[in-house]
Amino acid sequence: MEALPFAERFANHLLYDILRYFLFCGIPFLIFYVWFKSPLFRFKIQPKFPGTSHIQREILYSLLSMLIFTTIGSAVFVAHRNGYTKIYTGIHEYGMAYFVFSVFLFIFLHDTYFYWSHRLMHHKKIYKHVHLIHHKSINPTPWAAFSFHPLEAVAQVLILPIMVFAIPFHPVAILLWGIYQLALNVGGHVGFELFPSGFTNNLFSKWHNTSTHHNMHHKYVTCNYGLYFNLWDRLMGTNHERYTEEFEKVCGRRKTSAIQDTEITTAQPDTSSVPL
Ligand SMILES: [Zn+2]
Ligand SMILES: [Zn+2]
Repeated sequence: MEALPFAERFANHLLYDILRYFLFCGIPFLIFYVWFKSPLFRFKIQPKFPGTSHIQREILYSLLSMLIFTTIGSAVFVAHRNGYTKIYTGIHEYGMAYFVFSVFLFIFLHDTYFYWSHRLMHHKKIYKHVHLIHHKSINPTPWAAFSFHPLEAVAQVLILPIMVFAIPFHPVAILLWGIYQLALNVGGHVGFELFPSGFTNNLFSKWHNTSTHHNMHHKYVTCNYGLYFNLWDRLMGTNHERYTEEFEKVCGRRKTSAIQDTEITTAQPDTSSVPL
């Protein structure tokens, strides 16, 4: 098949990234904020809904992030075509066991990269110039999943070239990581908690983050920096001290069909709880 000119490939890639954003963020938005807003309200983490301008800002910055993701993604593709990456195309080259291992490796290394780059974004000299855009969503919606300052979008997507220049990955392994990170990113910003009571206390499940975990990061700012796992936050003591308590409080509201006014939280960041 004739290779597409770069501009055409870039346009296709951008369209694909934008469609994927609208699909993965739009469907949860329609389910939780439009179609089943009332029956699912008892699953809402912060019992209030943000306004239209909030959602418009999240979408606009996310679209800008898509442009940056496409640019870096296209550059990685060109590098791969010219033999500069370690991407391999035949599963047999490293075997099935390595393929499965490589998916978990990508996810674990990304979790580590995310935690530490996120801590860096909270440095007082960087935070207000870059990361504050993402934190304007104190009560995030799924549209906030990629609502970043352009510099943060670059920092986020840099994980892709770092990985594929250093470690052999099959494109399907990269795709599986991509689906997992998209699902977890949208899940962390959806604003609703679906995991069952006891999830953050269970010996096994407590190591996986919840939507409440990242929602608390948006609400309280200086805690809960992790993406997929609760490993680095536990190791570094940066989990919010009331994480499990708040998670159970959110789960407890499901038992009542109507939310009491007294339970409505104010969406003001409390930066005094955990030091940077
Ligand atoms: Zn943050
Ligand atoms: Zn966030």
